Amino acid sequence: MTCIFCNIITGQIPTTLRYQDDQIIAIDDITPQAPHHLLIIPREHIATINDLNADHGALVGHMVLSARTLAQQLGIDKAGYRLVLNCNADGGQAVYHIHLHLLGGRHMKWPPG
Ligand code: AMP
Ligand code: ZN
Repeated sequence: MTCIFCNIITGQIPTTLRYQDDQIIAIDDITPQAPHHLLIIPREHIATINDLNADHGALVGHMVLSARTLAQQLGIDKAGYRLVLNCNADGGQAVYHIHLHLLGGRHMKWPPG
């Protein structure tokens, strides 16, 4: 299986690791779209948000809570930040292993492109 994020998790592709535990890793996005742009990635290979089931509820909650904690550690929680999950082509998904974008350090526009 060729999956960029699985290869990062197994150490085959180098990365800038910001956080890790038994369920997730958090890394710097290789093409940052904001002064702070991290990806929170589950160790389990799940292709899209559509592939989540009820048993993944705690994992998704852990991803969001970890993003919250990372935002606090980065000092962007008060100013604000954005969490993004892209799904499939219209959602702009490029890597088919789910990941939560944490973007901050600048003002975000709405609606997104
Ligand atoms: P998405 O469009 O939501 O699938 O986002 C995929 C993200 O993965 C993009 O923001 C890419 O810049 C990022 N990305 C791709 N390859 C790597 C990598 N090797 N290390 C870190 N981020 C990556
Ligand atoms: Zn994967």
